[in-house]
Amino acid sequence: MASGHCLCGRIRFVTEGEPQWVAYCHCPSCRRHSGAPVACFVNFPLERVRFEGEPARYASSPGVTRSHCAHCGTSIAYETAGRRGEIDLYLSAFAEPERFEPQAHVYFGERLPWFDTRDRLPRAAVTEFPPTPPGRLAGFIIDCQNADLQAAAAFWSAALGMPMRQLPDEEGGKYVRLVDAGGLHIEVQAVDHPSRVHLDIASEDVEAEVRRLEALGATRVAQVHSWWVMEAPTGQRFCVVRAVLP
Ligand SMILES: [Zn+2]
Ligand SMILES: [Zn+2]
Repeated sequence: MASGHCLCGRIRFVTEGEPQWVAYCHCPSCRRHSGAPVACFVNFPLERVRFEGEPARYASSPGVTRSHCAHCGTSIAYETAGRRGEIDLYLSAFAEPERFEPQAHVYFGERLPWFDTRDRLPRAAVTEFPPTPPGRLAGFIIDCQNADLQAAAAFWSAALGMPMRQLPDEEGGKYVRLVDAGGLHIEVQAVDHPSRVHLDIASEDVEAEVRRLEALGATRVAQVHSWWVMEAPTGQRFCVVRAVLP
């Protein structure tokens, strides 16, 4: 249980249980409504929040309602028709804001250029709430230039102690899967560019993940089928691929 109140105390709220997420929003509307260079929200299902006193409500855009104390002006919450049944309470209104640690930055692309925080949280360039979870390392692809694919795969299979698994015909000519006990997706691939190893990052939302990585300094190289080839600020190539269920 946690509680909060506005500056004058006319609006009070109590929340039950743990929040669903905590995130900074750098968008200009949240900046205006909060009066701070960045806003921070703590999200709860509405049924787990109880209010005392009625906050004033302002429809800031279609479907979006922001609330505040009509007497003292303290910002209270953000609600959107896109996420019915939820409420994003301003972290700053809580009695013990230190209890809620932010997990992400959203609309990071719209932050004030001189503003940054010293954390290693994911930074989404735009992204609506809730923040897209960062992509995860899906595996490594061992690119072998002009190689005999079976011989190349046999080498890496023996070198890494991972059994080979032949893939169906359409893919079988280009890739051999190596079975990793840890669940990483490892494949040996025949390519015509110089040999190297590249890594794959998987996300349920490829476009959002690409934008998140762009905000971190990566650049787009090319789109191939459903995935994006990107280049890290340190020069390595990697792919952002659609996450598939195991
Ligand atoms: Zn008040
Ligand atoms: Zn915002």
